[in-house]
Amino acid sequence: MAKRKKIKVDKIEAEKRLKKIIPLLKKAYPNAKTALNYKTPFQLLVATILSAQCTDVRVNIVTKDLFKKYKSPADWVKADLKQIEQDIKSTGFYRNKAVSIKNSSKDIIEQFNSKVPDKMAQLITLHGVGRKTANVVLGNAFGKPAIACDTHVIRLSRRLALSKNADAVKLEFDLAEIVPKNNWTVFSHLLIFHGRNICKARKPDCENCQIAQYCPAANKPDLW
Ligand code: SF4
Repeated sequence: MAKRKKIKVDKIEAEKRLKKIIPLLKKAYPNAKTALNYKTPFQLLVATILSAQCTDVRVNIVTKDLFKKYKSPADWVKADLKQIEQDIKSTGFYRNKAVSIKNSSKDIIEQFNSKVPDKMAQLITLHGVGRKTANVVLGNAFGKPAIACDTHVIRLSRRLALSKNADAVKLEFDLAEIVPKNNWTVFSHLLIFHGRNICKARKPDCENCQIAQYCPAANKPDLW
């Protein structure tokens, strides 16, 4: 693939295009939501930590048994680290993930009375929890407006000239300025669904893209 040209971003113009893009994506993906299975904020926190560099399908296979074995933060704290590693091994990066889950569980017990906090400032104090994980939990488990920037959100936001930033945190703040707050959570899901189905990393299917009319990168490989 040729070297990617720098995208030009005009916030006012991007905001206008978003008014067209969001309804079209909602129509294309009416059931856009997280693919991770969970019943409680704590389960979603664990599933999101496990989902780093791993497919949601694989995480759901693993958590099916995992959530029966480890029911509360206390269960993770009590468990032997080596055993946790074995139990989550197939999700990859299992040593770091095991430490993150065990230590964040300890933080939740000691700092937050065994309940997952529902504020960004508190969530990011948990061991191994960054803004992306915190936003997934806030947006999905607590129903608060939250933009979670994963690889699809980063790629599509740049192709759609919504931001020039590839850094997830900078991008989150850029998007927060132009995406209406009531659409923050669903917007991440819409871009993830569109990224998986049409606007794929290596070869976006611009011919069949529902939002091509509003995309500066449509049929322009030098902007992918
Ligand atoms: S037009 Fe092409 S590059 Fe733009 S969002 Fe659609 S698939 Fe992606």
